[in-house]
Amino acid sequence: MLPTEFQSALSSLDGRQGAMTERTLAWSAINSGTSNTEGVRRMVGEAEVAFTEAGFKTERVPPSPVTLVNSKGDETPVERAESLLMSANPGANRRILMTGHLDTVFPASSHFQKPVTRGDGSLHGPGVADMKGGICVMLEAARAFLRSDYGESVGIDVILNADEETGSHASADLLASQARKADIGLVYEPALPDGTLAGARAGSGHYTFTVRGLAAHAGREFDKGRNAILGAARLMLAVDELNGVRDGATINMGVIEGGIATNVVPDTCIVRINVRARRTEDLRWVDEEIRRVHLEAKIGEGIEAELHGGIHRPVKEMKGGTEALFNLVRSAGADLGIGIDWAPTGGCCDGNNLADAGLPNVDTLGVVGGKIHSDQEYALPDSFEPRAKLSLLIMLLLASGKAPWPERLKV
Ligand SMILES: [Zn+2]
Repeated sequence: MLPTEFQSALSSLDGRQGAMTERTLAWSAINSGTSNTEGVRRMVGEAEVAFTEAGFKTERVPPSPVTLVNSKGDETPVERAESLLMSANPGANRRILMTGHLDTVFPASSHFQKPVTRGDGSLHGPGVADMKGGICVMLEAARAFLRSDYGESVGIDVILNADEETGSHASADLLASQARKADIGLVYEPALPDGTLAGARAGSGHYTFTVRGLAAHAGREFDKGRNAILGAARLMLAVDELNGVRDGATINMGVIEGGIATNVVPDTCIVRINVRARRTEDLRWVDEEIRRVHLEAKIGEGIEAELHGGIHRPVKEMKGGTEALFNLVRSAGADLGIGIDWAPTGGCCDGNNLADAGLPNVDTLGVVGGKIHSDQEYALPDSFEPRAKLSLLIMLLLASGKAPWPERLKV
């Protein structure tokens, strides 16, 4: 049963679908691929204005330094945009952390730039679901909460980061420090196309091997060369032996770069690897094993490999406070006539980072949509208002004491 004292707050969101979808389309037209820092900063500016109007104090937080191994094998700094940290009711004891990302996977050079409303009414454009639409849902819910009878009782902190799509390396410290101060986390990744939420999430790691040998002319001095591509191949086969050893732990050789011409023995080869595991102990095992194989594998005389990277998204498990929060979301959904279910996924997001810092969180409270990370990405406009009401009701239930605050996770 929907408590009657929440009626007026919830009905303040009636008819807000148009405002949310209009803003989503406008934001989708701003290219904010992670590397397009100028575009991401435009989104920072847009979000600052919108959240200030909703009652938040905003602050731009500089990115933590991030390096990547380039195709020559050199570790080089990467530019990232600032994150936004925004707060309301800074003195309140109980705090809700809402997070979202301003970046998308579509670079400035992508052909996928222009949002449109399709004949069936669905929104089609970069980030409409992942997650500019989700940020609009978050904004509406937060604004309505701050204007409700309970609007001053709970603190709300919002992080909109600029590099979630590349692993949140530059914003991980900010996410962790705010997660330690909060009671629950609400994250606005899109729900699955049928409305199902992501429950437990696999953890993930990125690794780069830089393999170096010795260049030589393939005709004149073949024997003097030390073939880095062959060394990399031997190393990959040794690492691949780890696949299948532990259930749910996988290692994908994703990218290989090396060589300049067929008549040159290659002196450099870069191998980029992604690791996933469903249990914390398995993720740690894979990490240790990759380091062991790196030291022990026979990759050829005169050939050496350097290892860069590690675990960057810890496993998010469905237990304790996170499970309690999901149950609260389900009962709030039932009150609103929205069926809520969840399923485990091999994907990861900032919800993994928040859980690692002890914060119970639900990370797919954004819009319903699909085909994300492709040029067919879409969002269902009918989902915006119900999802905003769902977040608002969760906040009202906790703030009013009608639902108990979930316990923080043991870390
Ligand atoms: Zn996303």
